[in-house]
Amino acid sequence: MFEELNDLYQQVIMDHSKKPHNFGTLAGANCCARGQNPLCGDQMQIFLKTEDNIVRDLRWEGDGCAIFKASSSMMTDSLKGKTRGEITQLFDEFHAMITTGEIAPNNHLGKLEVLSGVNRFPARVKCALLGWRAAMSALEGDHQPVSTE
Ligand code: ZN
Repeated sequence: MFEELNDLYQQVIMDHSKKPHNFGTLAGANCCARGQNPLCGDQMQIFLKTEDNIVRDLRWEGDGCAIFKASSSMMTDSLKGKTRGEITQLFDEFHAMITTGEIAPNNHLGKLEVLSGVNRFPARVKCALLGWRAAMSALEGDHQPVSTE
């Protein structure tokens, strides 16, 4: 399905989608949000525990396509321990990479660069962004469900 992505990237994406990290619910979460991508059928719920403006822990659960699951799994790895400001900056960098394929110099993306090829699959852009939109919504305390439509 993603023949154009190189094998290493494809392997990382498959590993995360089969065994998502930080999967499940979180006792004591103080921020949560739901998100869905009706076009593809992806849906999720995210739970965050914040303290002193820092994301101390987070979990997510849901189901959908491989890109959605891999992106959400990798996102939860990258948000842990970050401040809201750092997360907003990272979201901007990730959003630019996924929508334009451009990777800013001196960015904070790290392993998330594995998903840079997604911009060549316009139908999957929303899948890759769903988890991020839900996380941002949870952090902003906006309890309206996020929909990519
Ligand atoms: Zn999807």
